[in-house]
Amino acid sequence: MQSVVVRACACVVSICLICTGYGFSAAAGDNLAATGFRLLSLNDKSTKWGEPAAGKGAVIRYAFIAASLDRPGSRNCRTMEPLRASPRPDGPTADGFQHEIRRAMESWERVADVRFVPARGGEPADLVIGFQRKPRGIAYADVQSVPLSLGAIATTSHAAICLNPNLPWESNFDGNPATPDVRYVAAHEIGHVLGLDHSRRRGEATLMDFRNSETIRVPQPGDAAGAVLLYGEPLLKDTRASAAHISKLSE
Ligand SMILES: [Zn+2]
Repeated sequence: MQSVVVRACACVVSICLICTGYGFSAAAGDNLAATGFRLLSLNDKSTKWGEPAAGKGAVIRYAFIAASLDRPGSRNCRTMEPLRASPRPDGPTADGFQHEIRRAMESWERVADVRFVPARGGEPADLVIGFQRKPRGIAYADVQSVPLSLGAIATTSHAAICLNPNLPWESNFDGNPATPDVRYVAAHEIGHVLGLDHSRRRGEATLMDFRNSETIRVPQPGDAAGAVLLYGEPLLKDTRASAAHISKLSE
């Protein structure tokens, strides 16, 4: 498996060295100039879920892991544990973590044609989420693509998001990077999972900034432009309508 290691953002000051390519040309370049988003690049290819074509939507099945998980061969999130309560007394419970991460998923569903649905009935999850067994940084994403993908765009096959369990996580978005906000960090990591790299432009707020500024919590115009390039415009922007759409997809 090819693997992209995405250094977690919020936490580490260094930027991932392998995540600087664009992968698309022409129209994409225009968007880049206007908005500054960056696409992950793996062996000179962008990677996305679903059909390996720009502007095509995707459904991503996710799972909050219920037991310890080893992911041999991955470069990040190699060993994971289930989410549990924040060590901060007034921080989120395990259920609170899940709630906030689902809200982060919804924030991306509102800006592009992506749907996150829970894996059910033993079906395999595309995206697994949990705590790190060996805590470091704030959070990491690991993105893997189908080997030997043909064409200019690779197909993402698996991904993981793992959070450091020892940090004083909160869900109040208090603006203090020392107490990381679950939804903010999750939204950033989900951006990586969708195929976006770090982006930082003077005067332009972006969720994909690699610094932990904790000033914005949802995808900004530049983030949305990158997601739309990969997956197309959102079909439904209302959360309730989105839930109905998910239900329909699951039938
Ligand atoms: Zn990051």
